[in-house]
Amino acid sequence: MEEKKFGHIDVYKLIFESSTEGILVCNKEGEIKMVNESITRIFGYEKEELIDNKIEILLPNEYKKSHVRNRDGYAKRPERKQMGAGRDLFGLKKNGDKFPIEISLNHMTIEGEFFVMALLTDITTRKNQEIAIHDLNAELELKVDERTKKLKENQVLFSLIAKNFPNGIICVLNKELKFTFAEGEELTKSGIKSKFLLEKSYLDSFNKENRKEVEEKLAKAFRGEVVSFEINKRSSVYQAHVVPLIYETDSEVSQILIVENNVTKIKSIEEKMKQSLQKEKELSELKSQFVSMASHEFRTPLSTILSSISLIEKYDQLGNDEKKKSHFEKVKKNIRNLTSMLNDTLTISRIEEKMIEVNLEVVNIHKLLAEVIAETDGLKGENRDIIINFAGEENLKLDQKIMKVVLANVLSNALKYSDKDVVVEVAGTKEELAISVADKGIGIPEVAQAKLFDRFYRAENAANIQGTGLGLNIVKSYISLLEGELTFKSRENVGTTIFIKIPITN
Ligand code: ATP
Ligand code: MG
Repeated sequence: MEEKKFGHIDVYKLIFESSTEGILVCNKEGEIKMVNESITRIFGYEKEELIDNKIEILLPNEYKKSHVRNRDGYAKRPERKQMGAGRDLFGLKKNGDKFPIEISLNHMTIEGEFFVMALLTDITTRKNQEIAIHDLNAELELKVDERTKKLKENQVLFSLIAKNFPNGIICVLNKELKFTFAEGEELTKSGIKSKFLLEKSYLDSFNKENRKEVEEKLAKAFRGEVVSFEINKRSSVYQAHVVPLIYETDSEVSQILIVENNVTKIKSIEEKMKQSLQKEKELSELKSQFVSMASHEFRTPLSTILSSISLIEKYDQLGNDEKKKSHFEKVKKNIRNLTSMLNDTLTISRIEEKMIEVNLEVVNIHKLLAEVIAETDGLKGENRDIIINFAGEENLKLDQKIMKVVLANVLSNALKYSDKDVVVEVAGTKEELAISVADKGIGIPEVAQAKLFDRFYRAENAANIQGTGLGLNIVKSYISLLEGELTFKSRENVGTTIFIKIPITN
């Protein structure tokens, strides 16, 4: 493109005058020789007021002196440069106002004379904007600082809450089921640093059987569900609530929150309550069984007693002492039966209510057996024997009262349900006492064998023989109290052997 040719003086003048930047030309002595329109607008002087005046007229007082020095220096080593070098420069208006200014310097020589040309820009607006931006930045920074502080405070608060989360653990897991956060009183108490858990797998604390189940539950939470479940860890029971925490997309969860509560204590209280409720139920069953038993079982002996007493009255009038005596015996026997029935019931409820304590003392098993046999003598009659075979230790640490009740019951059964000899074998060692009682009596029908130790249970073939079905139930309870064993072997019409084994503790 060809450059357009102008009458060049006119073009430069036009540029000079219409420039929005102020243009000013000084000579070596600092006298203003030329200014454009913008200079007069910026400084508020008329052109005539400036021409031939010293340049310092446009400077605030504090810069005037040094400017004269700088001006001389520049004249000696002129260069094209931006004035001020990092400092803010100021100009002085005719009305005395100081304002920020930007100056760039150039020099020229016209017809042998040295001139300095300055380009001036009033930067008040820009400076104001800069200040505004600076202020805004400062304000923003303050806000950020405050936010950060609040955030930190919240973090401290949250971490404090998490650390002291009672009886449990709060943790966050990532998709690999690794901890990204873990805190809680359970950790603090057990001395496990939460740092130690980071990056470890949540599944590590579960045994193989539980692991799969837990994994399935957690997978649900990663699908966006809220899940609750009970878990066993290190011999404690925990109630766990799991919720999705951070979503990667609308449906994809990347982190889940688990809140675990140790409910072992609550569980054991619950269990104890259940047990005592069950005991309560059993006791009340026992009581109602007793009431129905009493109404049945007491009726016969009581009416026997009543009729015997009326007969005694009658035989007394008739003076028949023989008959009188036999009826007195009947009354006595029936009262004994009633008393033993009441005693049995009382014993059962005492065992049930755990009111019986085991008192161990050294007992001579010989002597004990002799005492028991003496008490059951009435059942034996005259034409048969109780054969006793002893082996081993005689003096053993036992609960005398309990042993007496046990042996009396078993022996009385053998005598009641047979009419032949009864064989008792006793073998004592330092660790164990083994006793068996064998008879050749009516035996126990197979259908009855499973229920033999049930309370009030009586086999059909025993219906005509006096009894309440409490004896073996008491024996069984006592033997389990002693942590022993009670078993039997029996065939109907052949006979029965009862086996008892009791551990001896020293
Ligand atoms: P009690 O409460 O007076 O002892 P019981 O003898 O009927 O009455 P258990 O001693 O508990 O009650 O015995 C329960 C049942 O077991 C008996 O009714 C009887 O049917 C059967 N039984 C127990 N011992 C023998 C035995 N040696 N021979 C045959 N049956 C027996
Ligand atoms: Mg019995």
